[in-house]
Order: sequence, then structure tokens, then C-alpha cells
Amino acid sequence: MRLLIANDDGIYSPGIVALAEVAAKFGDVRIVAPDVERSSAGHSITASRPLSYKRSPIKDFEAYRVDGTPADCVALGAHNWEKVDVVLSGINLGSNLGNSMWHSGTLAAAKQAVLLGLRGIALSVATPRDELNFDLVKPSLEEVLALLLPERELTLVNVNFPEGKPKGLRWTRQSVRHYNGRVVPGQDPMGRKHFWFTVIPMEQAEEGTDRWSVEQGYVSMTPLRLDLTNENELERAQLKHPLL
Ligand code: MN
Repeated sequence: MRLLIANDDGIYSPGIVALAEVAAKFGDVRIVAPDVERSSAGHSITASRPLSYKRSPIKDFEAYRVDGTPADCVALGAHNWEKVDVVLSGINLGSNLGNSMWHSGTLAAAKQAVLLGLRGIALSVATPRDELNFDLVKPSLEEVLALLLPERELTLVNVNFPEGKPKGLRWTRQSVRHYNGRVVPGQDPMGRKHFWFTVIPMEQAEEGTDRWSVEQGYVSMTPLRLDLTNENELERAQLKHPLL
């Protein structure tokens, strides 16, 4: 099995090494990742200038750093390495739960895989106040990959690990409660105005959702699809305003 590994934290993130080390137990691994951090880049692509990459071995892994976005890395990686089976993205330092999926570059890399006809799995871990210990995550990550990789029907899965040692795995839905995407004004040391775009969940998570699962100490696995059509609204609109 050929496993292409990307992320949005950049090629020098400890999360990508931890992922590559576990993924190598399941197949051939190649890392193609942004040369700098691209967190919250979403599914942006670089279309107005050419892309380039440099060989950038990490430990014993074949790795390349790209001057582009997470989605660029997957497109380029899949172009240069034939017959990729699954794209693994992460492990992101920080959760990608609920509405934050819209901003996530980690998830975008997995989505780009699906757009290319491949499978994608996004992996993120909640970051504790002290230093993150990947040895706590790795056994769970191995369990997740052993479960998900043979499941060819699961084309896109968003996986989130809780802080510390997980209690187990859970299948979840995306939490879609409103969130607080606020702009907070501040001032830099030179007295100039600046603004922080902060995203904080407003309400408690509903049972069975990704956020709930991670808050309870479980690994959350949410199968996703790229078809965003609201079937109910489409049907309602067609009945109310028939256009034939
Ligand atoms: Mn990130």
C-alpha cells in the first residue's frame, strides 16, 4: 500500500514524523508537505504561480518540501508518485472538529486526495498546555489505521485524538453548533491596531459528535463526503419554485 503523507503544520512538524513512523507499518511512505506552516489555509491552491519542491529527507523517510499549500502538496505528491492508495494528513497539532473543518488545511489535504480519486484520512490531536507526547497517541493511531486503511468504502475520514491517552475509538458526526468566529482588536508594540480572528465554540457539544467524543477522552472518527448539496432544501425549493 502506498501512503502519501501531507500536513498543514509544515514539513518540520513533529506530528508528521509521528504519523510517518506509524504509517510505515502499513505500507510505503512518502512525505510531501509545505515548507512553512499553512494552518487554516483551508483548501486553497496555488494557481497564479508555479510550484516547486526540494528533497528534504526526514529520518529514513523520503520527503519533499513544497512552496505551496496542503492541497498543492497532495496534488504534486500524487502527480510524482504513481498509484498512491491513501493520503494521510497530519498529525495536526490542534483539533479539527466541528465547524473548524472549514478552515482546516489538514482536512483539505485529505479532501484533495478524494478530488483526485484517492482516499484521504485527516488526523489531528488536541494540544495540551504542556508539551505534546506523541508516544501517548501512537498506539491509538496504529489502531485507527488498522481499522480504516482496509475499509475502501471510507473515502474521507476526519480523525481527532483527545489530550493524553485515549479511552478508545468512536464513530462520530460533525458537530454543527454555531461557533464564535470573532475578530478581537488589539495593539502591537508600536501602537498600531491589529486584529485577531479567534474561533471559539459557543455551546456545549451534542452527544455523538466529534467534539463531544474528544471532550470525553475518545478518538473521534467522522466519515465525510464532498457533496455539500442540502437535499431537503433542494427538494423544498424545487416544490416551491418549479422551474421546468
Ligand atoms: Mn495545523
